[in-house]
Amino acid sequence: MPVEDNLKKVKDYLIKNFSDETVYNHINGESVSSVSGNTFVSFSPTDLNPLVKVSESGKQDVDRAVKASVDTFAEWRDLTGKDRRKILLDISAGIKTRAEEIALIESIDTGQAIRFMEKAALRGAENFIFFAEKAVEARDGASLLAPEQINITSRKPIGPVGVITPWNTPFMLSTWKIAPALAAGCTVVHKPAELSPITAKILLEIAEEAGLPPGVWNIINGYGETAGRYLTEHPDIKAISFVGESSTGKKIMKQGSDTLKRNHFELGGKNPVIVFEDADTENALKAVAFMIFSLNGERCTSSSRLLVQNSIKEEFIAKLKEIIAKIKVGHPLDEETVIGPLISPEHEKKVCSYFDIAKKEGAKIEVGGTKVLDQKLKSGCYVSPTLFTNASENMRISQEEIFGPVLTVIGFDTEDEAIRIANNIKYGLAGYVWTQNLSKALRVTEKMNAGMIWVNSENVRHLPTPFGGTKDSGIGRDGGDWSFDFYMETKNVCLPTIDKEIKGLTK
Ligand code: NAD
Repeated sequence: MPVEDNLKKVKDYLIKNFSDETVYNHINGESVSSVSGNTFVSFSPTDLNPLVKVSESGKQDVDRAVKASVDTFAEWRDLTGKDRRKILLDISAGIKTRAEEIALIESIDTGQAIRFMEKAALRGAENFIFFAEKAVEARDGASLLAPEQINITSRKPIGPVGVITPWNTPFMLSTWKIAPALAAGCTVVHKPAELSPITAKILLEIAEEAGLPPGVWNIINGYGETAGRYLTEHPDIKAISFVGESSTGKKIMKQGSDTLKRNHFELGGKNPVIVFEDADTENALKAVAFMIFSLNGERCTSSSRLLVQNSIKEEFIAKLKEIIAKIKVGHPLDEETVIGPLISPEHEKKVCSYFDIAKKEGAKIEVGGTKVLDQKLKSGCYVSPTLFTNASENMRISQEEIFGPVLTVIGFDTEDEAIRIANNIKYGLAGYVWTQNLSKALRVTEKMNAGMIWVNSENVRHLPTPFGGTKDSGIGRDGGDWSFDFYMETKNVCLPTIDKEIKGLTK
């Protein structure tokens, strides 16, 4: 489908959903403007033209949304798991029906290529199906036998929770956080990222059309330092599920300390992909390129540090350059595009600043390293796919999360050296290992400090498995039953199995 046709569809969908071009808050089942009436503008990174106005929330808006989530908590908590399951399955069906609309709007709002956003929208539906099925067993516990007693554990939803999401794949990430919260029986106040707020509103409308009672899930739009902060400080919000930068996670932990908030953090990453000389290099090449150049490199699990054994390094780099030369940078609504514009001029500036940093540090810009100045693209936030070589492990380009289509290559000689370099970083989200030697793969993965490691594969998610990071990459795990550990409280009831006389204070 030509870009113009997709653009026309986007326009129609935006008018259908937002007739006065404003994304309002959503509280108690209703679209409401912020109490102040203030709005801000959300721009498309394709050309920096305004897309929509967005309600800017303050403290009173957060209070209203939290009150709705408190008022509806008992009703939602007390629904049977079977009833919650049905509603979540109906939400998933609604997402599937409107997947094209979601993908197109997400693409124009974030700059992510449509080919990936179509999949992301459907993954959102899968998240709801997965947690719908788990809703039925969410409260189950264990029975623990001891001499003269039996203990029975059960789980209860923790209460109203706050969900704060970033801009990189906002729709999918919102479903990933909100579906388990609802399945557990929690009510939700969601604050989407101010840079990409549109699809969150569509998602909530789908949920209410599917029968979710009003007030169970509410949205407040606005900035992190105000709306986000009030939400994290609110005494009636029992837990914050946050996805975003490590530095923001640290702030949220401080902001929530007075109310002893439970936090779940999915934060930044600078993930190593280790390619040994005995790897299936053809597949490794494809996976390496995919994991840094898909989703504009604005991906927490991107393999942004390539650690390649020196014996195959030159050949590997040469082949990688051939792949990069064929990557299409272009309008995100073009089906052929792989890399679209970065989210904002500020982020583009940050990513481009690493081109100078690389030069100053003595690395080589092997490919790319420029803003795209093509006539059609220069008004947007487009940068070329970039490869830094001649890098060493302690350079800033090897240590800092750039969050763009930028790959740093570091050579190594031995297995021990590869492990040391992989772990020499403040982050610990994901890692990738390429070798055909199974015992080497097991040795290396055992010693790597990361929450998730894939062997001979790109990132392929299996929803029952734990997702999350170590060190500055996060606290806690999502997926499978792990999500319920966060959104629920575990209670133990102890019963005697004998008729016993209580000795009390007698000796
Ligand atoms: P960010 O931390 O700037 O913002 C994320 C959200 O937090 C936004 O909604 C923002 O408004 C809000 N926020 C900002 N300051 C706040 C405060 N003081 N209190 C409460 N809320 C506040 O992150 P971003 O730039 O939107 O996203 C990119 C980052 O997200 C990258 O570091 C990336 O690695 C990370 N990320 C991690 C994962 C993961 O699973 N680990 C997934 C996606 C993105």
